Amino acid sequence: MRFKLSQHWYTKHRALVLERDGRVCHYCGKALPLKSSACLDHVVPRSKGGSDDPDNLVVACKRCNTQKGNADLGVYIARRLAHIDRERKRLLELAECLPED
Ligand SMILES: [Zn+2]
Repeated sequence: MRFKLSQHWYTKHRALVLERDGRVCHYCGKALPLKSSACLDHVVPRSKGGSDDPDNLVVACKRCNTQKGNADLGVYIARRLAHIDRERKRLLELAECLPED
């Protein structure tokens, strides 16, 4: 049975992980100068047996934290790579519309 994380636990571990990870999103590398812009993400989601131990926690920006959701890291990476591939193809199609020099 899972329990909601206590505020005390969250505050304590958040400070520790923020200091360890240097306020940089683990997934996209974005600097997070404001404490409020940084989230804690469970690398192995709690819903899939991941622990609340700091070894299973990383700093993530809100965007990456939301996009990852409760996906396994491998699934999340595959989704991001597919997105990058679609964007790359779209940009290459746009580049074909450029006038030639
Ligand atoms: Zn991010």
